Amino acid sequence: MSFGPGQTGHKKPRVLSGMRSTGKLHLGNYVGALDNWVRMQDKYECFFFVADWHALTTDYADTSKIKENSVQVLLDWLAAGLDPERCTMFIQSHVPAHAELHLLLSMITPLGWLERVPTYKEQKENIKEKDLGTYGFLGYPVLQSADILIYKADYVPVGEDQVAHVELTREIARRFNMFYSGKRSYIFPEPQTLLTPTPKLPGTDGRKMSKSYGNTIMLTDPEPVVRAKLKTMVTDPARVRRSDPGNPDVCPVGDLHKIFSDQTTLEKVEAGCRSAGIGCIECKSWAADALVATLAPMQERRKKYEDNPRLAWDILEAGSARARKVAGATMNDVRDAMNISREYNGASRGAADY
Ligand code: SF4
Repeated sequence: MSFGPGQTGHKKPRVLSGMRSTGKLHLGNYVGALDNWVRMQDKYECFFFVADWHALTTDYADTSKIKENSVQVLLDWLAAGLDPERCTMFIQSHVPAHAELHLLLSMITPLGWLERVPTYKEQKENIKEKDLGTYGFLGYPVLQSADILIYKADYVPVGEDQVAHVELTREIARRFNMFYSGKRSYIFPEPQTLLTPTPKLPGTDGRKMSKSYGNTIMLTDPEPVVRAKLKTMVTDPARVRRSDPGNPDVCPVGDLHKIFSDQTTLEKVEAGCRSAGIGCIECKSWAADALVATLAPMQERRKKYEDNPRLAWDILEAGSARARKVAGATMNDVRDAMNISREYNGASRGAADY
């Protein structure tokens, strides 16, 4: 039996998404997720969390920066336009009920389901410098399922590479409901994916933008840094000389224009590149103009919180308290369903602030 969105009884469909606490964000994070989150705030009831426990699944050996990294992620969220009045932002580790649900779900999740998650094998093979043969790393999709199910989310916005994780969450929800729902219709709704269109955003070397490649443009990069990075950005390799015509469709700078430049500039790039009427230096300076125009208002907003990081922390605290209420109510249902409620006799009453 499957439970679609709209059957959860939420006033607005509920959305849950998170980002690992990896520190300051780059343009790839913005275009791939954050920009979309900002636009979802009014249409959905949004819960966005800084996934510090998820960061530990790979970066467990050195935790010295983890709190600072969480704050930096939040500062970039606020800079991009997430608004604490219109969405709930919180830190995963401040809502310990995620860990309790993770534990309970881990009891019912067959190992084979985890071993076949595509990112498990892929990351184990790719990240050679860390020992990922840990219990926590294998189990992180279960933690992710707990993150989603504890809010009874209707939707999870994801890119293509995360679809398998949401599918696993649905399977775990179904299995839990089968074992424990009893006479109730169900405990957990099955979340749906909300596929996020992710435009191609290359880094300065033309590969996917990623901190591990050192090819990022950060949301916090000041104008001179943005311009300097653009200057070194690779272009269409066919344009060796100024007189060689190029093709913006195979040029990383062309990709940036498609995302950030206005129609007039785009037309100038199209015509000028293909006819060798413009040089790459000029074209890159237009791309830099567009980037600076996007980043400047964000940096302005960020400044208020950078000057007073306590303000940002208070936002996380208030959001975490709100999240604990919702998660606490779900955990009452879960404990009741599994016959491990805290009441001496009978079911839990009301929502507990866990
Ligand atoms: S003119 Fe612009 S789009 Fe064309 S190759 Fe140079 S940088 Fe790329």
